[in-house]
Amino acid sequence: MALSSDYERRVMRERLREQIHRSQESGEKPGWQIFNNVDGEGKLAKWGDEQIEEWRSTRTMKRSYEEEVLAKIRGWQDSGRFEVEQAGALSHDHRGQKIPAGQTPRYPVYAVRTKNWCPHKPCALVTGGVHGYEKSGVQGALQFLEEKAEHYASVGFNIMVVPCISPWGYECIQRWTARGVDPNRSFNPDGEVVPDRKLNPEPETEESRILLDLLEHMHINYEVDHWLLHVDLHETTDTDASEFGPAKAARDGTFVHSEVFGPGGDGDPGTIPDGFYIYVDEGTLPHQSGFYAAMLNAVKEITHIAPAGKFDIEDSPNAAEFGLEGVGGAVVCEAQEDETIGACAGVTKNAKYYKTTTEVYPDSKSHQVTEEQCNRAQVACVTSALDYLVAAELSGC
Ligand SMILES: [Zn+2]
Repeated sequence: MALSSDYERRVMRERLREQIHRSQESGEKPGWQIFNNVDGEGKLAKWGDEQIEEWRSTRTMKRSYEEEVLAKIRGWQDSGRFEVEQAGALSHDHRGQKIPAGQTPRYPVYAVRTKNWCPHKPCALVTGGVHGYEKSGVQGALQFLEEKAEHYASVGFNIMVVPCISPWGYECIQRWTARGVDPNRSFNPDGEVVPDRKLNPEPETEESRILLDLLEHMHINYEVDHWLLHVDLHETTDTDASEFGPAKAARDGTFVHSEVFGPGGDGDPGTIPDGFYIYVDEGTLPHQSGFYAAMLNAVKEITHIAPAGKFDIEDSPNAAEFGLEGVGGAVVCEAQEDETIGACAGVTKNAKYYKTTTEVYPDSKSHQVTEEQCNRAQVACVTSALDYLVAAELSGC
C-alpha cells in the first residue's frame, strides 16, 4: 500500500531503525537475523531445532506475568468475586525448559467466570493475550472483569474471560510461543491440522489446546453449546513489521531482505494501519453490520480509527453495499476465514453468533495513544458488543 507521503515513510523508517537498535541493546538478536543455510551458497531452509533453540534462548523476560496478571486473578479467586478456574498450564518455564512433574507451573492459564452461571442465559467469551506481546489484550480483559463484567452478568449474560492465553509471550513480549509457533494460527477446532489448508494453520500449541479443552469442558459440564459472543483482543504494533513479520520469513526459509523490507513486504512499516480496526467476517454481513458499527463508534471516542480505504481496510467488493465504506477500521475477510487459518476467533464456531478480533494500535505517531487508552478501547469493544446484543438479541426475553 502506498503511504500518504515521503515524510511519513521516512518517519516510519526511522522508527524501524530505532526499534532494531533497542532490540540489539537489550541483547536480543532480531529473529530475522537467524538463518538456516543449507549449502555453501547461502540457500535458506526453514529453521530446524537448532535455530528455534537459538531464537528461544536469546529471548529475555521483560515483565512479570505473576505480578501483572496472576496477582489480580488470584485476588478475585480469594475474594470469591468471580469463579476462577485453572484451565491448564504451559509445560515449560521462562527458559523453555520442561517443568518436572509435581512442581508448580510457572505459566498457569486461568478462566474467570461471572457468578450464578445459568444454562438458560446467553454466553459471552472474551479472550486476551493469544499474542502475549499485545499488552492491552491482556490488561483490557482484566480491566473489563474489574469494571464491567458483573454489570453485564446482572443484565442476563454468562461471561467467561480468559485474560492471557500465551503467558510466556506476555513475559518475553513475543508473538510466538516458546517453540517458535504463532499461536493465533494454531486453533484448529477439529483438533487437527489439515495439510495445505488455506493459509497453512500451524500445528496445535499448548496454548491453543488449553482453550480448546476449556471450551469442551464448558460444553460438557456447563451445557454451553453456543457462545453468542466471542471477542478476541489483539493489538497491531510496529514490531509486527520491524521484527515479527521478518522473523517469520527467516523461520520459514523465505527471507529475501529486499522483498521482506521492500514496499508491501512483511517488514514494510507502511503496511501497519494507523489506528484501531476490527476484523469483519464477510459471511456475517449485512445482518451483523450494526454489531461492528457499535464497536467502532464506541472505540472512536477513545482512540483514532484506522483510515478507510487504506491498508486493505474495506477491501471487500461489497463493503459499500453493507454501509461499511468510508467508515474505516474494518478489515473484511472471507467468510469463516478465522477458522480456516486457525485463528482464535474461529474456535467458537456456531450457526449464529457474533465474533470479532480487535486490533488496537499503541504505536501511532499521528495521535498520542497511551496504554490507558489502549486498555479502555479493548473494554469499549466488549461492552459495546454486549450493549448491542442486549438490544438486538435479548429484547423481549
Ligand atoms: Zn495479535
